[in-house]
Amino acid sequence: MGSRRLSKRQIERIQHLQERRRARAAARAEAELVEAEAAPQQGVVVTRHGASLAVADADHEIHHCLIRQNLGHPVCGDRVLWQRTGDGSGVVTALFERTSTLARPDYAGRDKPLAANLTQLVVVVAPEPRPTGYLIDQYLVAAETIGIRPVIAINKSDLIGADDNPELARIGEYDRVGYPVVRVSSRVPGGLDPLIAVLRDQTSILVGQSGVGKSSLVKALLPDQDIQVGRLSSTTGLGRHTTSTATLYFLPRGGSLIDAPGVRSFRLTTMDRATLEQGFREFRPYLGKCQFADCAHDREPGCALREAVERGKVLEWRLASFRHMAARIERQSQKGKA
Ligand code: GDP
Ligand code: ZN
Repeated sequence: MGSRRLSKRQIERIQHLQERRRARAAARAEAELVEAEAAPQQGVVVTRHGASLAVADADHEIHHCLIRQNLGHPVCGDRVLWQRTGDGSGVVTALFERTSTLARPDYAGRDKPLAANLTQLVVVVAPEPRPTGYLIDQYLVAAETIGIRPVIAINKSDLIGADDNPELARIGEYDRVGYPVVRVSSRVPGGLDPLIAVLRDQTSILVGQSGVGKSSLVKALLPDQDIQVGRLSSTTGLGRHTTSTATLYFLPRGGSLIDAPGVRSFRLTTMDRATLEQGFREFRPYLGKCQFADCAHDREPGCALREAVERGKVLEWRLASFRHMAARIERQSQKGKA
């Protein structure tokens, strides 16, 4: 993270202010609940700004909601129970358990949930800019660690011509590892159809390096994004800056997309080696089977993973990618101790 570290005092002050604001909002929520007549109903948090939530009901109508005290901190994608209050808004009274959480370190370096209940992470790559080394594998490991389905979308497929680059050819091999690969383009008619099919019935985010066409895809997938944002700010009274926090959008042809600039570029947080190994799904049958318990899967004798490579069960470049990432994690933890 490039962000400036705050002093302990500054962090305490921010936390204190946040707590006070939250307590005031919760008190207001309690007062309004007394007047609530309607029965509780299910909803999904579309976005949050401080103590204010935008909650979508079953018909995708947006309601401005406050939250009851001691319910924790709902984020975009959370499923909730809420009750209408007199003035057309509502109060969130219960929070359902999450199936997945996407987190990222906050100003104090602690993991802070950004989005909940994602089911799918779409890694967007393109012929231009050329895919950089290990970024795709990093995203795949992140998805495996969070417990959501990764999909690779090769965007700008209209640019793929005779001089195909080797990086793209390699990406095709992810199919063999068990990760779906779709080819898309927002520049050709019907070019998005394979992606639209993959997004249906899922809650997805698009990630990938800058310039691969994520914004163009979001724009094409959500022709009514401005309308959805407009509705959001008019019902919640929140300004359009809400789009800088994670926001859930309903896709016209099914499924939803969680989007925010910060979400699109999230990176792996620190993890231990065992988690990293599990993040390479095709390694799993061989883990724990090396001769040495602390095998680095490099030059050790009796390495089950290297044998798997020799037998064509594991791709050599995926093992190289693992070693590269493991070495980076190792360096990070050395730095952390120093
Ligand atoms: P982001 O940084 O990932 O959000 O990428 P953008 O959506 O800003 O797109 C980067 C550049 O790629 C822009 O100049 C787009 O016009 C271009 N681009 C996006 N999608 C396509 C596509 O399907 N085909 C081609 N040829 N160019 C595209
Ligand atoms: Zn080994």
